Amino acid sequence: MTPQADSPTVLSFEDARRVVQEQASSIRLHTMEAAGATETVDLLAAAGRVLADPIVADRDIPPFPRSTRDGYAVRSGDLSQLPATLEVIGEIRAGENLNSVPALVYPGQAVSIMTGAPVPAEADAVVMVEYTSRLGPRVEITREAASGENIVARGSEARQGGLLVERGMRLNDAAIALAASVGKSRVEVYKRPRIAVLTTGDEIVGVDATPGRTQIRNSNSYSLAAQILAAGGVPMLLPIAPDESEKLGRLIELGLQADLLLLTGGVSMGRYDLVEQVLADLGAEFFFTGAKIQPGRPVVFGRVRSAEHKYFFGLPGNPVSTMVTFELFARPMVEALAGMSPRKLAFLHARLASEVRVKTGLRRFLPAILSGEFENAQVHLVVWQGSGDIAATARANCYVVVPPDRELIAAGEWAAVMLR
Ligand code: AMP
Ligand code: MG
Repeated sequence: MTPQADSPTVLSFEDARRVVQEQASSIRLHTMEAAGATETVDLLAAAGRVLADPIVADRDIPPFPRSTRDGYAVRSGDLSQLPATLEVIGEIRAGENLNSVPALVYPGQAVSIMTGAPVPAEADAVVMVEYTSRLGPRVEITREAASGENIVARGSEARQGGLLVERGMRLNDAAIALAASVGKSRVEVYKRPRIAVLTTGDEIVGVDATPGRTQIRNSNSYSLAAQILAAGGVPMLLPIAPDESEKLGRLIELGLQADLLLLTGGVSMGRYDLVEQVLADLGAEFFFTGAKIQPGRPVVFGRVRSAEHKYFFGLPGNPVSTMVTFELFARPMVEALAGMSPRKLAFLHARLASEVRVKTGLRRFLPAILSGEFENAQVHLVVWQGSGDIAATARANCYVVVPPDRELIAAGEWAAVMLR
């Protein structure tokens, strides 16, 4: 489906997501195969980056049967009669040199053992020290233990050579810990994609300018840059484009040299909304020119064939529309260009503190505040002046998501919530 700008295609939210995800998957494969797509960085610099070379276990994990408690390693069969009195034949600490400790526990024997220490052969359980009393060379045990209790068997977390972290995963704290545990002080990750940001509009001036009465400072380039960074890309801010075809066209061509181009503004129906026409003149194909959402309805997604396909989004200029459409549609493309495996949109559910009334037909993303914890968790909409209201949106920590067929969600009902 590749309509031109003069035959607008407005998709449902789900269809628009599907189209983006299809393109994202193909572009991800391309990213992963491209020469020079990766770089090797220090372990700590790899936090938040996308893994390009799988992390595998360099030995069994754990490398020995590990006690998870301080206590006594025993043969569980010795505890059939309680209390049981066993002979203590030694002590094993974490990191113990195995030449200097008992290798074997015979019937009637126990070994004092610490958390993280290797359990000797034939012992099949560790009794917590809380259930024991030491009587000189003996220990009295008042609780039975099941075979395997408080022991993590050798290799039960992973086998030597086994896959620990797949490529395409964005490295979180646990993945960084795994890399450290297998001795990877350097990690191969995908290079960050360069995402061009082009703001359009005659009324828009730079952050450092003193705006005239009818001018406003460019804020969209900065919210987008923050979102691009959070998604794993490198933002490249282009000069502000006027609502004039020729200059706009030149800046679009510049932006298409990046890995992805995000335009903001100029995609509505006004006489000076020129973005789609200029892109069409550059030979663009459009996957959609609108989605049934609010805010963000005029969102545009397409690509231009140059040496390879270059993708672009025309995001609506209203600041909240820009933020929402980035999260819903542009983010999967940035992540794919960063080599990341596809991720589903996750919605939490929370009880509405007060009712929500809207018109049907569009899926709504309404800025809201999630508050309270545990049984007091609830969500309420912020009062806002519509999708230009950055101040209200900055107070929000989430969006309440209203499906297109609902015009009323009553107070106390569960509502879908997208965190931000
Ligand atoms: P447009 O999509 O170009 O019709 O713009 C919609 C609204 O968003 C207008 O009120 C614009 O002034 C505003 N707007 C557009 N671009 C930006 C920007 N970069 N920063 C802040 N507001 C903007
Ligand atoms: Mg405009």
